[in-house]
Order: sequence, then structure tokens, then C-alpha cells
Amino acid sequence: MKTYLVTGGAGFIGSNFVLYMLKKYQDIRIVNVDVLTYAGNLENLKDIEGDERHIFSQTDIRDKDAITRLFAEYDPDYVVNFAAESHVDRSIANPEVFADTNVMGTVTLLNAARAAWQQEDGSWTPGKKYLQVSTDEVYGTLSLDKLDEFFREDTPLSPHSPYSASKAAADMFVSAYGDTYGMPINITRCSNNYGPYQFPEKLIPLMINNALAHKELPVYGDGLNVRDWLYVEDHCKAIDMVLAKGKLGEVYNVGGHNERANMFIVKTIIAEASKAVNDPAITEDLIRHVTDRAGHDRRYGIAPDKIKADLGWYPETKFEDGIVRTIEWYLQHKEWMEHVTSGAYRAYYDTMYSAK
Ligand code: NAD
Repeated sequence: MKTYLVTGGAGFIGSNFVLYMLKKYQDIRIVNVDVLTYAGNLENLKDIEGDERHIFSQTDIRDKDAITRLFAEYDPDYVVNFAAESHVDRSIANPEVFADTNVMGTVTLLNAARAAWQQEDGSWTPGKKYLQVSTDEVYGTLSLDKLDEFFREDTPLSPHSPYSASKAAADMFVSAYGDTYGMPINITRCSNNYGPYQFPEKLIPLMINNALAHKELPVYGDGLNVRDWLYVEDHCKAIDMVLAKGKLGEVYNVGGHNERANMFIVKTIIAEASKAVNDPAITEDLIRHVTDRAGHDRRYGIAPDKIKADLGWYPETKFEDGIVRTIEWYLQHKEWMEHVTSGAYRAYYDTMYSAK
């Protein structure tokens, strides 16, 4: 039975990954390590309540002693590090916590994995792997004039926001542990995810939530900034494949070839949400242009050629289907949204887990 130590497994992508893996494999267990910041929500894991293959630990990845204890207790085969401060706007307002969590948290995990997995003669226990979940934002920005240019794994890192700078620094530590100590590592760099359980500070759930409530839809600048969108389940599948088959030491870009301008996303949400609830009041009149984000990268675009060629991964979900499925999910989970926006999920946590 393989043991996965998954950090940040109460956040958006991490919780989707935990649910995906426990559904796909019977004979695994997941030690879910999450400190539960504002972005961590145990309600995301309601569907696996009582499943003994899931062990939750409210732990900070920067807490060296606690992380070391978890390694000793559970002897994980894999570490998948999702835990991070993940919102660019928050990083502009308060960069320190991004350096602290995203860089120092990663180094703490690397050290604990090394202490547990490396033998005195320098060799590594076979079958172990550390996977760092990273972002295409570490590559910086692409131009809107050269649409045939994409981020590739050898594109130089050139981050612009404090968030992407912290993720790039973490990636460099991970590859340095691979190069220096021979640590078995992989890094995945993914484009923008969307889907169930995403905290409504991010573009797609924010717009869905606001549109359904007839609130203004704030769009940065001219709305023409382009992002590559990937349905979260396709990302989970990519991580599973990299863990199982990724060549040690390699970086894999994960993206959907699904580049869309922010304004296109917002207009699609307006049309689909209006259709889904049969509400003619959800119109483009709700759009409001707001002052552009400082240092706003113009375009991100991923070439997922390597992961396709080497591992056979491809994005299965067409954006047109994924966005409708996502809107439906938010409509069916209004309570989740209310709790998240009111902070009531803390109360849920106290009832469900504080005694454990
Ligand atoms: P998220 O903000 O929804 O979740 C982050 C989780 O990490 C939360 O549950 C939070 O409680 C936890 N966490 C934060 N600090 C912690 C700490 N010190 N110790 C333990 N847990 C801590 O983020 P997400 O969108 O799910 O992103 C997950 C990872 O994927 C991040 O590393 C992010 O950089 C990366 N990524 C995200 C996207 C995207 O579109 N969301 C795209 C590419 C890469």
C-alpha cells in the first residue's frame, strides 16, 4: 500500500487531488497535511468523511518537528506539495508570508524527506519521490503579438509577482536538492485551474458567485490578459501520472492549450450562468473595468508537448464543457459557497475534527 503525504489537501487543487486519488485507487492512504489558512476548507473533503485511508493533520509545513514526526509515523512513499499561499493580489499586499510559506515551507519538507529517505552512504530508499506542484507563472509573461510562442520546460524563469517569485524560488530549491543530493524529485508547472471547490477570490468562482447575486463583475484593465485554463481534474490526472511514470529530476509543464482572454471568460460565465438559472438580469451590464493589477502579466501559454509525448497525458476536458460543469457545481453547492464566504467552515472544522 502506497502512502502519499499530500500538503495543502484542504485547498482547491489539493482537495480535488485527494478525492481523485482515493476514488481511483483502493489500496492507498493519504496523509493530508494542511494548516487551514483562509483557503483551506475541510468541507471540500466531506465526500470522504469516515474513509480510513484519509488521515488529516492540521500542521504547518514550516513546522520542522511536526513534519519530521509525520514522516516517522507514516513513512510516506510520495510527497506532493500543494501547500502554498496562492493568490497574486494577496502577494502584492503582503509578500512576506509568501516567501515564508512557499519557500521556507518547501525547504522544510525537502529536509524532512531527505532525512527520512537518504541513507548514510548517500543512496536513496527506492520508490520514493517528492513532487513540487508549481505554476506557469514562474516563466513570466508572453506577448499577445506572438501567439505561436509558448512556455516550455527550458524557458528561463522570470517571475514578476511576489507570488510567482516565491514559487520560482521554491522550484529552484527542489531542483537544487535533486542536483546536489540526488533527491528523487519532479516539478510540475501548471496553467490556471478551474473547477469545483475553488475559493471565490479567483477569477472564475468570483465571477460565477457575483453574477448569480447580480453583483458587479470587476475586470482588470482592458480585460484582454490571456490565461491558459485547465479543468482541475485534468491537472490531478497529470500529477498522478508524473508520480507514477515521471522521469526523476524532470520538470513537466501541464496546460490545456485553452488560452482565453479574461473578458471572454467573464462573458462566457454571464451567458452560461444566465442560461443555467434562466435569469435575464445576468447581463454584460454587470461588467465593471477596474484599475489593472500592478505588474499584470499579459499572457500565459503552455506547450504540454513533453508530458504528452513522454507520459501520454492530455487535457480531456474541453473548456466549453468544463465551464458549464463548474457553474452547475457552484449552483448545486450554494451552501458551500455561503460557508466559504461567511467563514462558517471554521465552525464545521471545530465540530468535525477538533476532538481528534
Ligand atoms: P489554495 O490557496 O486553494 O490552497 C492552498 C492550501 O494550502 C490551503 O488549503 C491552505 O490552508 C494550505 N496552506 C497554506 N499555507 C500552509 C502552510 N504553511 N502549511 C500547511 N498548509 C498550508 O491553492 P490552490 O489553488 O489549490 O493551489 C495549490 C498549489 O497549486 C499551489 O502550490 C499553487 O501555487 C499551485 N498552482 C495553482 C494553480 C491554480 O490555478 N490555482 C495553478 C498552478 C499551480
